Amino acid sequence: MTDITLTGRHLIRTFGDGDTQTTALDDVSLDLERGQFALLMGPSGSGKSTLLAVLSGLLRPSSGTVLARHGDGFVNIWELSDREREQFRLQSCGYIFQGYNLFPALNARQQLEIVLRWGQGVLAREARRQADEMLGILGLGNKGHLLPAHLSGGEKQRVAIGRALVKNPTLCFADEPTSALDWAHGEQVVELLRAAAHERGATLLVVSHDARIVPLVDTVFHLEDGRLAENAAVGYDH
Ligand code: ADP
Ligand code: MG
Repeated sequence: MTDITLTGRHLIRTFGDGDTQTTALDDVSLDLERGQFALLMGPSGSGKSTLLAVLSGLLRPSSGTVLARHGDGFVNIWELSDREREQFRLQSCGYIFQGYNLFPALNARQQLEIVLRWGQGVLAREARRQADEMLGILGLGNKGHLLPAHLSGGEKQRVAIGRALVKNPTLCFADEPTSALDWAHGEQVVELLRAAAHERGATLLVVSHDARIVPLVDTVFHLEDGRLAENAAVGYDH
């Protein structure tokens, strides 16, 4: 199957300059396909978060290209204007960050509604229905009225996951999405991510240290000192 939705080519990203320069990404190339659930692993400081940010339009690479499928062709997301890239991110990408990045003044349901209403133009009543449905799937059906300050770490993480998935993104990027969860909830979240890929055709790139996730994904990429290991793709069989 070659239904590529996102391609990174020769990505290099450095931070700082002179003696203090760090090369976070050192010539990384990879392809991601429609419906693929890919895991990105590697030691701390190996460049995982940097790669996610570069591929998802959040951090400009020092050099290299990121091509994202757009209609019948591809766009180089780092050649778009800031505004066009923002549109691409709003319409096509879901994000699950390490720090959750929830709005402190919005309750759990509103965190999801706002994505649907602003990003996707869904009307209020329908946004509420879809938000409630997703909260229910995440086991947060009775927490919709609570602000982040009144949710546990694991509950905040699930709200962040719901916010990313509720809009049915074409591409979904997650940095340690299960780090605050016990395995029962963690496995539930991984199943949800898997369903987004395999049932709805999303492309998922997930950073995790959790070896329990490995058997549940299609592909594992290993990053080491800013480089992808050779023959990184394993177990991708469809
Ligand atoms: P990982 O997510 O695998 O732990 P990161 O992508 O966060 O790794 O970081 C890769 C390397 O780049 C590390 O050496 C880190 O210190 C460096 N780095 C990341 N972000 C910055 C930054 N904003 N400024 C300077 N160095 C950074
Ligand atoms: Mg990181």
